[in-house]
Amino acid sequence: MKVIRIKSVVGRKLRDNFRAVLLSEIVKRQKIINDKERSLLFHSNGKIKPLSERTGQEEDTLQNLQSDWWALERLKRKSICECSFCGDNQSDMVYIPSSREWICMKCAASRGFSSHEKF
Ligand SMILES: [Zn+2]
Repeated sequence: MKVIRIKSVVGRKLRDNFRAVLLSEIVKRQKIINDKERSLLFHSNGKIKPLSERTGQEEDTLQNLQSDWWALERLKRKSICECSFCGDNQSDMVYIPSSREWICMKCAASRGFSSHEKF
């Protein structure tokens, strides 16, 4: 198990700011995807566009957009930027090799992981 612990206040602030920049970029890109999806799923008057009115190309575009959205979401969930259990993005993180994800120290402790254990 790998623990990334930053003790310096300045270092923690840098880390938190770096994480915030990365997470906000992911959210921004997901919002762009959501807006594109919405334009394909709804008419300009806000009513849902029935499946029968969508073209095959629009359906392909929707599938590609959803694939892109989930690629960003997986990237976020597997990153060290936020705890994959609670979403905390301002804590030291512990890497869990068995699930290949980072979780915060609090979640690691509540799940019985110790920073001295080997996995
Ligand atoms: Zn957590």
